Amino acid sequence: MVDTPAGTEPRMDQEATAEAPYGFRSVPLVAKQAMVDSVFDRVAERYDIMNDLMSGGMHRVWKDAFVTAVNPPKTGRIRWNTLDVAGGTGDIATQIVRRSRDHVHATVLDINGEMLSVGKRRAEKAGLARDIDFVRGNAECLPLPDRSFEAYTIAFGIRNVPRRALALKEAYRVLKPGCRFLCLEFSTVDVPGLDRIYDFFSFHLIPRIGHLVAGDAEPYRYLVESIRTFPNAERFAAEIREAGFQQVKYTLLSGGIAAIHSGVRI
Ligand code: SAM
Repeated sequence: MVDTPAGTEPRMDQEATAEAPYGFRSVPLVAKQAMVDSVFDRVAERYDIMNDLMSGGMHRVWKDAFVTAVNPPKTGRIRWNTLDVAGGTGDIATQIVRRSRDHVHATVLDINGEMLSVGKRRAEKAGLARDIDFVRGNAECLPLPDRSFEAYTIAFGIRNVPRRALALKEAYRVLKPGCRFLCLEFSTVDVPGLDRIYDFFSFHLIPRIGHLVAGDAEPYRYLVESIRTFPNAERFAAEIREAGFQQVKYTLLSGGIAAIHSGVRI
């Protein structure tokens, strides 16, 4: 694992007084990353099982649809370098590599060493250690060269990044021209009836499941609240355009519970 925490330190000038949403609370922007890191330190070992329990297995269906949208090469001489930012335990990179054996090399980048350690162990067990690199770094300041990837993916990660606009600019910078940014993230449910069931599940059941299975409800409360403060698909698409991407589009999944966003670097 390459340990490159460069850029993880907060910028102390005009940002010193700025605020950022942390779940339903507002916290100093410069403090948010450390709070997010502590959430993932606490959930890392149980992250994969909790993902299944919290989404009723749906995260697998959404990730499958996401990797289909990424559409990595499967035949011919084309070889991709893909970057999965906030890649955690490596789910997306593993699926991309499995679908494209010998045509893709994946880099998983995450700010959290615990999540990366779980991911690295999983990749070794799956015999994918040579196909996937694990790099510690910040989405806001990628320790990676310009124009070096054929695809940039980020799944359920962008809403945790304090300075989203910087992360989107960094995505643009490291992509090769003509290549795509793809993001899988929770979105806004607007199906009458489904919204009430979803609220009950999110605010009552998920923290309880967290308490029972992981012995800790608090991180799961943050995860649920952070979903509700994330912009809806239209507003997030505007942020992606703002970072310079073109052909920006999105597809809602499961009545808007999640969405796949994409944009092309020209
Ligand atoms: N992508 C994985 C998945 O879909 O299973 C993990 C998603 S997990 C909900 C969010 C991840 O974002 C955590 O592993 C966390 O450490 C990472 N993260 C949070 N802030 C980050 C940042 N500024 N830069 C890189 N990763 C970050």
